[in-house]
Amino acid sequence: MESQENFSRKSNFRIKEVKQIGEEMLFQKQLELAKKVANFYLAPLGIILKIMVPSVAKKGKRKLASFLKGNKLENNKRAKKILEIKDKEIALIGTKQERDEIIFLAMQKAFEENRQFLYLASEIFPAATFFEKLKKYLPENEIALIHSSTPPGEFFHIWKGLKDKKIKIIVATKIGLFLPFSELDTIAIEESGDISHKQWDMNPRYNALPVARFLAEIHKAKLLHSNSAPSVEIWKKKEEKTLRIINLEAENASHYEPKIANIFSEKKSPDFPIGKELFETLSNVLNEKGKSLLVVNRRGFSSYSICQSCKTVLRCPNCDRALVYFEEKEKYKCLHCRHEMNLLSSCPSCGACQFSHQGIGIQLVEKKIKRLFPSARVLRLDSDISKLKKGSAQILQDLAKKNFDILIGTQIALKIGSLNSFGLVAFPSFDELESIPDFNTRELAFALLSQAKSLLEKRGVLLIQTAYSGNPLLKLFPSEKKEEFFEKELRERKKTNNPPFSRIVKLFYRHPNKKKVEKETQKVFDLLQKFADNDNNIIDINEPYEPLIAKKRGYYYKNILIKTKREAEIQKISIFPILSKLKKGWGIDLDPVSTV
Ligand SMILES: [Zn+2]
Ligand SMILES: [Zn+2]
Repeated sequence: MESQENFSRKSNFRIKEVKQIGEEMLFQKQLELAKKVANFYLAPLGIILKIMVPSVAKKGKRKLASFLKGNKLENNKRAKKILEIKDKEIALIGTKQERDEIIFLAMQKAFEENRQFLYLASEIFPAATFFEKLKKYLPENEIALIHSSTPPGEFFHIWKGLKDKKIKIIVATKIGLFLPFSELDTIAIEESGDISHKQWDMNPRYNALPVARFLAEIHKAKLLHSNSAPSVEIWKKKEEKTLRIINLEAENASHYEPKIANIFSEKKSPDFPIGKELFETLSNVLNEKGKSLLVVNRRGFSSYSICQSCKTVLRCPNCDRALVYFEEKEKYKCLHCRHEMNLLSSCPSCGACQFSHQGIGIQLVEKKIKRLFPSARVLRLDSDISKLKKGSAQILQDLAKKNFDILIGTQIALKIGSLNSFGLVAFPSFDELESIPDFNTRELAFALLSQAKSLLEKRGVLLIQTAYSGNPLLKLFPSEKKEEFFEKELRERKKTNNPPFSRIVKLFYRHPNKKKVEKETQKVFDLLQKFADNDNNIIDINEPYEPLIAKKRGYYYKNILIKTKREAEIQKISIFPILSKLKKGWGIDLDPVSTV
C-alpha cells in the first residue's frame, strides 16, 4: 500500500506525458489547482494530474436514472437567510439534521441556477449515507456520488457528465476535489477537522480542507464547513475574522451536560465494560423503543493478549505491535499487516497455551450487550464490516430502514448519523481515546464527543464511562464552556509552537536494518540543522525519534519533525534542497495528522 516515496526522481518524464493528455482533458482551473496542491504538499505535479484524468476513456455502463423530480424542501426561513450571507468561508455548527437541511437547500438553489456544488465527506460510508438522503430532493441523473472505490467506467461517466455540465451536484470523498468543475458555486465539507480528510498513507499526502480552500479560491466559490463543533483551526480563523461561525444551536441553546459514569469500581464485574448506569440508561431507551449507539474505538475483541504463565504479550513478528484477538474468527490478527495466528498457538517464549485478553474491543462490548439484552436487535459497524462490500450494503439498508435497537460501532458509526437519531450515545471506554499523547489528541476527542452529541434526539443522553471523572476535557465539554476549551487549546498550541501556529513537516525513514535507520536519520538530521541555521522561517527541528509503532511490516522507522512558520513557503526555506533530494526509503508528510 505504501507508494513510491521519492518524488524528485523520475518525475520529469511523467509530467511531460500527463501534460500532453492534460491539454485536451483538463480545464485550466484544474491545472491551476494541481500546481497549488503540488507546491503546498511538495508532491510531484504528475501524481496530481494523474488523479484528475480518469483511467478509463470509454463509456461506462450506467443505471437508468429515475427522472423523478425531487421533493421541494419545506420553506425554511432561517436556512434561506443563512444562504444569503456573503462571507467566503462559513462554519455551520449544529446537529447533523439541521446542517443537512441547510445544505440540501443550498444544493437546490445552486441546481436551479445551473451551478455546481461539491459536498465532501471524510469517508465512503458517510458520503453514501448523505447521497441516499439527497436523492429525495434532486433528480438522480443530475447528481452523483464518487469516491475511490467507484468503478472506472462509472467514474468516467460522472467525470464526463460534469465536464459536459449534465451533472451538477457531486457528493464525494476528497478525490472529488480533482474533478473538472467549471462553475462551482459552493464546496461543503463535513466535519472539516476530521483526520480522515487527510490522505496519510500514500502520495500525495494531502488534506481535503486546504485543497478545498484552493479550489474555492480559484472558482470564487463559497466554502462551507458542516461541523458538530468548531475545530481549533476554525476557532483561530474566527478570531482572525477570516471565517464566520453560524451557530445553529444558539436559538434553542440550553445548558447541556453529558452523563459521566465512573466505572473504576466495576472493573471486576462480569458485565464489564457495561457499567450499571449504562445498563440502566440502555434499558430505559429500549423500553421507549428508542435507539442507542455505543462507540468503541478498538476493533477486535480486546487490545492485547497476555500469556497466563510467563506474562508475555503476543506480538506480531513483522510489526512492533500487539496482536488483537478476534473471537468470531477464533484468530489473533495484526491490525497493521496481514499476519494472523491460530487460536491454538502456543506462547512464543514459554510454549504455554493459555492467554488472557486485556482491554476493551468492540467485539467484547457486542458480546456483553447481546448477553444482557438478548431480545434487542444489535448491529455492529466497524471497518471489518464496512470494508466488505456486501456487509456494508446490508448495514446501510438496516440503518436506513431502522432495523435495529442498538448500534455498536467504531468512530465511523458517528459519521452515518444522517440516517438516524439516538436516545442514547455512549462511550464505554472513553479513556482509550485520550491514551495517545499527541498535540491534537484533546481536539479529536472533543470532536468525537460533539459528533456524538449532534446525533442525539431532543432529550437524548450522552453517556461517558471513564475511570477518571476529574478529566479536564469532560469538564469543558458543556456548551457554555466551549469558548474556554478552544481558548485554552489555542494558548497551549501557541506555547508549544504547534499547528495552527506552525506547519509541521514530518520526515520518516524506513529500512529493514535498524542500525541503518539510526545512521541515516542522524546524518540527515545533522545536515538539516546545518542548513537551518539563521533561517527564521524554521522554528524547530526535532532529533530523530522512534514513532509509537517503530516497526511495521518488517521495516524499522524513525521520524524527524520540522516546524516552520505557518506562512513560510516550503520551497523557499533553507532546508528545501535537502527535502527535495532525500534518498530512497525517505518519505515526507506535510501537516501530518499524527506526530507520535
Ligand atoms: Zn503485523
Ligand atoms: Zn508464555
